[in-house]
Amino acid sequence: MARRPVVRMESVLEDRARIGVPDAILLEDYLNESVFIDNLKKRYQQNIIYTYIGQVVISVNPYTDLGLYTEDCLEKYRNVNFYEVPPHVFAITENAYRSMVAETTDHCILISGESGAGKTEASKQVLRFLAATSLHRREMDRVRDRLLQSNPLLEAFGNAKTNRNDNSSRFGKYMDIEFNFKGDPVGGHILNYLLEKSRVVHQEEGERNFHIFYQLLAGAPDELLEKLHLQRDANNYFYLKQGESCTVDSVNDRADFEAVDHALDILSFTTEEQEAIWDVVGAILHLGNVAFKADDDGLARVKDETPIVNCSKLIGCDKDVLRKALTHRTIEARGDIVTSPLNPEQAVYARDALAKSVYERVFNWLVVRLNHSLESPESGRKTLLGILDIYGFEIFDKNGFEQFCINYCNEKLQQVFIELTLRSEQEEYYREGIEWEKVQYFDNKIICDLVEEKHKGIISLLDEECLRPGDATDLTFLNKMNSHLATHNHYFSYETSDNSKVKKTINKDEFRLRHYAGEVAYRVQGFLDKNNDLLFRDLKEAMTHTSNIIITSVFPKDEFSQKKRPVTAATQFKNSLAGLMTILMSKEPSYIRCIKPNDDKRSYYFDEERVSHQVKYLGLMENLRVRRAGFAYRRAYEIFLGRYKSVCPATWPKYNGPAKDGVMAIVQHLGYHPDDYRMGETKLFIRLPKTLFLTEDAFQKR
Ligand code: ADP
Ligand code: MG
Repeated sequence: MARRPVVRMESVLEDRARIGVPDAILLEDYLNESVFIDNLKKRYQQNIIYTYIGQVVISVNPYTDLGLYTEDCLEKYRNVNFYEVPPHVFAITENAYRSMVAETTDHCILISGESGAGKTEASKQVLRFLAATSLHRREMDRVRDRLLQSNPLLEAFGNAKTNRNDNSSRFGKYMDIEFNFKGDPVGGHILNYLLEKSRVVHQEEGERNFHIFYQLLAGAPDELLEKLHLQRDANNYFYLKQGESCTVDSVNDRADFEAVDHALDILSFTTEEQEAIWDVVGAILHLGNVAFKADDDGLARVKDETPIVNCSKLIGCDKDVLRKALTHRTIEARGDIVTSPLNPEQAVYARDALAKSVYERVFNWLVVRLNHSLESPESGRKTLLGILDIYGFEIFDKNGFEQFCINYCNEKLQQVFIELTLRSEQEEYYREGIEWEKVQYFDNKIICDLVEEKHKGIISLLDEECLRPGDATDLTFLNKMNSHLATHNHYFSYETSDNSKVKKTINKDEFRLRHYAGEVAYRVQGFLDKNNDLLFRDLKEAMTHTSNIIITSVFPKDEFSQKKRPVTAATQFKNSLAGLMTILMSKEPSYIRCIKPNDDKRSYYFDEERVSHQVKYLGLMENLRVRRAGFAYRRAYEIFLGRYKSVCPATWPKYNGPAKDGVMAIVQHLGYHPDDYRMGETKLFIRLPKTLFLTEDAFQKR
């Protein structure tokens, strides 16, 4: 249904002074970062958290409910034109959805930003908006419920309280929503990336393990806890209490348990599956309480039998087998099989490796199972709308293997951005016969290559070091990089740096990468171990002999008998990212860039310095520069005419001529300078759509 346009020049200009511009391309001094940030701040202070750079939405986390996502608001953003309503995640979603339906092309919405910036909240609103597009037929309700219920379930297992975010996603997620030819959502598919499994066995002060453990203890009925031999108080469990913050003010574990329980039902997990899930979660808690002491020979002995008995009961394996597997290691060397006992420290390592591995595999199993529930019953062609909620660029005081992977992921996403946004932009100008000057931008392919190139890249060097028998350590890995990468412009370390001033700032155990978003120093400690990601074969074998249906399915017997070396963690990540790139490259992208206004989870506080960092990491200024160089607004002549004919006497109240001529008349009437617009083959291009936005106030009153 077409709505009447509201274009009143005076109110637009009044608004500008008070609440800034809705699209940063409208800023006069667009090269100036502080002007850009000022605009964000001005809006933020008026509770306007969204601003565009062309088709990119910037979102500044308000840390409070501003009533932006009511049903009413959701409806207001349906069937509207992107550029004629105030910026919102709903607007970008509607825009993507509509062109998906109209053009039967696949789309994706890429959400990025640092931890706590609001990615997951944004992704939920996008999903909500899309799920609600369905006609209210019974079958559609079923799909919608399932799509929406996938969130609480995955968050329970994949999110945790960190010092940055009380509900921090500790995995990357890409979700496709499938639509039939009518534009109804009919199914979905989820891909997950790099779960931070180290959290299962260790948490920093102030942080927690994954939510699900606390939810189970707080919310399970007495009978279930008894059956699992668990106690309510999370402080009884070593894997839960290391961060000394078992309860979180903003989190209601009890209610969340109910929600998970409900989600499992909606997603039609069987009773048997549900029981198996709780058994595994409980078993991991017991496993964490298995402690070791040294016997007279310094070898590991289990301190107390109870946890090991409980753990083996829950997963259905023999307790003696489990005990032996935790305290011994069998190695096969040149056909000989040798079993040697472990010392207590090694046994703790083995125990933790088991817990991490079980948890990770169960998480993957959940995703597979979820996908099964989300499978569309409809055959026939489907169009896809993907949502990517993945970790943003991370620079901590100490950066390790995880940050290396995460930042590499962001380099790859930047490649997608360059490829899709810049390329498609140029292609459209070409198609429409519009002259345009290519803009210069930094192509970060060189950094991607530095990390991933075969035989030469950092991941290859790391894998080589992991394979090398003998004395390979994190430091020999560093040396190896130093000798191979010394001359690379984006790599440097203490050894390779000849500038004494710079040298003083570099630790001897780190290497630095000059990422597109800035420089990051990585400590090499733990790189080999995390990349190898070993689970001793004794434990793997023990897991193939359990009666828990999930564990038996995630530790298949044939994996154990395979002689082939398992793929390393970094290579696995690299491969799954390559898969993600293929998926994204085949789609039309939209972007949501999330910004965290301060480090204290505080509402109404805009820390300019913190924002400035993120503006740099997200590459927003470059984004703006590129966008400004082209034509920000484009619209097919017919659509533009339909929308704006009422502002021009030549086209209102009656106009029967060709659309292109009508549009020309409107543009001239609006006073656009010839340099400000181009008439393409089928579309009007406007450099800066100064007067086309509906103001926030006018929108609210509507
Ligand atoms: P990220 O996924 O980027 O780490 P989240 O989406 O989990 O961050 O957001 C962190 C917290 O910030 C949320 O739990 C919520 O309290 C708050 N928040 C984020 N986005 C919004 C929003 N649009 N409106 C209100 N609060 C928000
Ligand atoms: Mg998140």
